[in-house]
Amino acid sequence: MVFVLKNEYLAKVYADVEKRNPNEPEFMQAVGEVLECLEPVVAKRPDLVKTGIIERMVEPERMITFRVTWVDDKGNVRINRGYRVQFNSAIGPYKGGLRFHPSVNASIMKFLGFEQCFKNSLTTLPMGGGKGGSDFDPKGKSEAEIMRFCQSFMTELQRHIGQFTDVPAGDIGVGGREIGYMYGQYMRIRNEFTGVLTGKGLAYGGSLIRTQATGYGVCYFAENMMAAKGESFMGKTVVVSGSGNVAIYAAEKAQTMGAKVVAMSDSDGYIYDKDGIQVSVVQQIKEVERGRIKEYADRVKGAVYTQGCRGIWSIPCDVALPCATQNELNAEEAELLLKNGCKVVSEGSNMSCTAEAITVFLKAKILFGPSKASNGGGVATSGLEMSQNSLRLSWSAEEVDEKLKGIMKSIYENSYAASKEFGDEGNLVMGANIAGFLKIAEAMKAQGIAY
Ligand code: NDP
Repeated sequence: MVFVLKNEYLAKVYADVEKRNPNEPEFMQAVGEVLECLEPVVAKRPDLVKTGIIERMVEPERMITFRVTWVDDKGNVRINRGYRVQFNSAIGPYKGGLRFHPSVNASIMKFLGFEQCFKNSLTTLPMGGGKGGSDFDPKGKSEAEIMRFCQSFMTELQRHIGQFTDVPAGDIGVGGREIGYMYGQYMRIRNEFTGVLTGKGLAYGGSLIRTQATGYGVCYFAENMMAAKGESFMGKTVVVSGSGNVAIYAAEKAQTMGAKVVAMSDSDGYIYDKDGIQVSVVQQIKEVERGRIKEYADRVKGAVYTQGCRGIWSIPCDVALPCATQNELNAEEAELLLKNGCKVVSEGSNMSCTAEAITVFLKAKILFGPSKASNGGGVATSGLEMSQNSLRLSWSAEEVDEKLKGIMKSIYENSYAASKEFGDEGNLVMGANIAGFLKIAEAMKAQGIAY
């Protein structure tokens, strides 16, 4: 165990979770990080211990796994596994993305679902936590195969979701196209037009800025951290890992705020452009052509492509925005970033940094935004999409963006305030975990226990 749990009660909770969830390293990592931060809360709030709040929170309310059968273009029958983890609904309907990636398994679903509870709580909106997806690999599939898979996936998922029950969104491998196919299938089966998914197209109930929201939010969060030190993105050199939904809009916003983004990546390798990445070229390659980041170097003079995505952290920068996937930045890479002058890290992907990497950053006292706080802009704007659907109204891009900025500021301020109140001022990992936890804990306590 990399976590230091001095408190006997929390150490026991961790050991019990480990026993009940063998071979689930990602889930244990997410639980360990939260428990480590809750030590001062446990000391101050024996009532939460007595009511078993923490033991209850580490067990999902419900976990559904299902078979997804579909037929590929050659007529072969293909089988994948689908998941929906409904983790905690104490403060609102379950809410969280769907991930389509071959690495998806129970551990990854549970880590994401668990983190989502805290993140959603921090947004200040009434949303519980959930996550779902499949081990389906969208890479190399035709448009028709993607559509058939999405339809088959929703044929089962639709029984478990609803606008007041559980509202999924996108994540890795699930963007506007997939949400559209799943929404269509939901309507075919249920004969109702409700805001049951977020990240919908603008023509059928989507919100302006939702596509950009996670990436923009990562930058707004970083800007809040920097502003407290009298700094900003202006003139900074930035490295953004990934080149998907979160990465593209984080890069775009960082540039708009005056920074120069010099590198981006995909799972094969990374590009370096000393003149500043042209985000529109990345968008053309990744969003329109669904190609590889390597092609950027063929199109932009002076840009260099290097095979192997992890090398991206060797590029000197002031600000690092990891926006690809979990555990994409380890302790050695964290040390390297520091050595090269990095002063700010704002996580775009969920649990971007290993526990050891976070320790390196916290020890160095650089500005570190944990994903629960820094990438909450996506789900927050999903929450705004739900509000607009319920109101039967659409807000302007400016209105949504203003609300998003306000929410990111609140997430920063609430996390900072909790870090101060509980004795480690400026440690936003601790602050975000505690602030997110307390709201859910109060709700669970108020709602009692069903005997
Ligand atoms: P996308 O599928 O749009 O993009 C994912 C990007 O990450 C791609 O460039 C992909 O490269 C790269 N990637 C995936 N797996 C790996 C890996 N093992 N190593 C290196 N690179 C990898 O996903 P999103 O941008 O939506 O999601 C990125 C992260 O942000 C995830 O952690 C997600 O949970 C998190 N997030 C997303 C939100 C959203 O609104 N979309 C909200 C909050 C968090 P390749 O094309 O080669 O696979």
